Amino acid sequence: MTYLTHKDKIFIAGHKGLVGSAIMRNLESKGYTNIVTKARNELDLLDQHAVKDFYRREKPSVVFIAAAKVGGIYANSHFRAEFIYENLQIQNNLIWGAYEFDVHRLVFLGSSCIYPKEAPQPIRENCLLTSPLEYTNRPYAVAKIAGIELVSSLRAQFKRDFFAAMPTNLYGPHDNFHPKTSHVLPALLRRLVEAKENDEKRITVWGTGRPQREFLYSDDCADALVHMAEKISESDFDKILNTPPYWCSVNVGGGDEVSIRELAEMIAKEVEFSGKLEFDPSQPDGTMRKLMDSSLLVKWGWKPKITLEQGIRDTINWYKKNRNRYQVAAC
Ligand code: GDP
Repeated sequence: MTYLTHKDKIFIAGHKGLVGSAIMRNLESKGYTNIVTKARNELDLLDQHAVKDFYRREKPSVVFIAAAKVGGIYANSHFRAEFIYENLQIQNNLIWGAYEFDVHRLVFLGSSCIYPKEAPQPIRENCLLTSPLEYTNRPYAVAKIAGIELVSSLRAQFKRDFFAAMPTNLYGPHDNFHPKTSHVLPALLRRLVEAKENDEKRITVWGTGRPQREFLYSDDCADALVHMAEKISESDFDKILNTPPYWCSVNVGGGDEVSIRELAEMIAKEVEFSGKLEFDPSQPDGTMRKLMDSSLLVKWGWKPKITLEQGIRDTINWYKKNRNRYQVAAC
């Protein structure tokens, strides 16, 4: 029996980030108290010896890996080498360490960009590695695919109850709001909040505005991950991961799909910005559509609770309250 229970000692790697902080809130709201976290200056996840020492000392029984080098389309295309190197290193240390030190349940997070650029929509888990990836985030995607394969290989070879979850585009508190390196939702949110405050007449939106993205609030994503860790049995995971169809991960979506133009309009309405949205087609659009098929998660009894309107409203409020004391990460 490897379900997550209140007896477990839980390690959240990346607890200060968008997803890690949401996992923390979710676990605390469900009464979990035995949670271990480490700030970057206490544990360097790139350092294999330090990570092994950590596992040896703390002996967590359940691990959530939300630590990764992440960023938007600009960061992914400009820091290609760091994106593949750091992600490979972080996940190798955390996943192999969890295997060596007998963690019994591990949740590894990737993202929808691991799927091929031309994947049929909505994207099913079995289309992984069926055709080429989008060039802008290929280094990140290749690292994540390697991590997913490591997790499923430990499951197949050593019967470890480790699984990978692929969330769609996430947003919420503790996101990266850097104007250049962030993802589209926090970038537009910040730009529009500031444009309203400075009474600007226009803002720029990268690309054509035509790509579509599915957005899920970080607290919904965390709820789905904790739901799977608590409620879905090892044998149910084995049925999809260790026997045909040999999936490598479970999609976490079910959020709202909108075009980038519609997203910009929604945020503009929320912050009462009535100026012009100018599109800059010299910036890349990236993948045109990446809607996830999350029907397995629905079958497993989970669906999101927070609408895009509500999530945008909550994120704007959080951003306005926290922008001065909260350090915005570069990527
Ligand atoms: P992606 O989902 O991996 O492509 O990453 P992003 O969230 O960075 O970008 C999604 C889409 O939003 C792309 O088509 C971008 O060109 C577009 N976009 C529009 N304005 C912005 C912006 O200010 N920042 C970012 N990151 N993307 C933007």
